[in-house]
This record gives sequence, structure tokens and C-alpha cells, in this order.
Amino acid sequence: MKRLPPTDVSPKRTTSIPALMMAPCGMNCGVCGRHLRDRNPCLGCLAIDRRLNHCEVGIKVCAERNAGATFCFDCATYPCDRLRQLDLRYRTRYGMSMIENLDHIRDLGLERFMAVENTRWVCPSCGGPICVHDRHCYTCGAQYEHPGNKAG
Ligand SMILES: [Zn+2]
Repeated sequence: MKRLPPTDVSPKRTTSIPALMMAPCGMNCGVCGRHLRDRNPCLGCLAIDRRLNHCEVGIKVCAERNAGATFCFDCATYPCDRLRQLDLRYRTRYGMSMIENLDHIRDLGLERFMAVENTRWVCPSCGGPICVHDRHCYTCGAQYEHPGNKAG
């Protein structure tokens, strides 16, 4: 159900995506269209119940093989070819870099990274998260301009 964004409120500055939404590959599951959709939403790569995770990327399984690795930067082969390919696709199509995210998490710490991330994807109308894939706010229905491929 779409609602029009309110116009008589001051712009929202932050949204509130929890740190548990950061997948091993550097994807913020909190801005993924599969998570934000109403119908049968994915709960993210770190969902305890794997039936509720619908990610096709599959890097989370790889991360589990490297015991103790929460993020790909803990891996000896970081950044591997698989991650580089994913990163290239996301930079090109969606204007977001997994490797950049991972480097920032490693350098800043997850908590500080999330504080920045929650200012990056905030819908100014309602404070909900904006989807990285289609730049849609699934909370209020606002649509924002896409920085990447128009067919995106
Ligand atoms: Zn919104």
C-alpha cells in the first residue's frame, strides 16, 4: 500500500538499521529490496532461521566455512574474485560498494560504520530506510533518483 510522503515535516536525518543487518559480504541487508518488501520479506543474511533468508549471493555460506569470520575482511583471500565481481556489479548498477563498506567496518568499527550508514540511506520524508536496489522508500512510498543504470 502506497502512502504519499508528508510535506509539512522537517527532514529526517537518520534511520535505524541495526548492526545485525550487515552481511559478511558488506551488503547492508537493511536496504535490500528483498528485506524491505511487504510480502515474504528476507530477514537478512544473519537471520537465525535460514528459511527466512532469501539471498542469492551466497557469500554468507562461504563466510561460515572460515571459522570465526564475521566479515569477508577476516578472510585470507579478501577481497576474493567472487567478492570483487559482486562489488563491481553493485558499484555499476546500484552505486554502492561492498568492499568500501567492509573497509570502513574494519577501520571504523561496526558501531561507528552503522551510525554513518544510518544517515546514508534515510528517507528525508519519513526516516525509513531507502532501498539500494530501486531507491524506493517502502515505508512512505517516496521514490528517489537512482544514481546507477536507469534499468537498474
Ligand atoms: Zn519514506
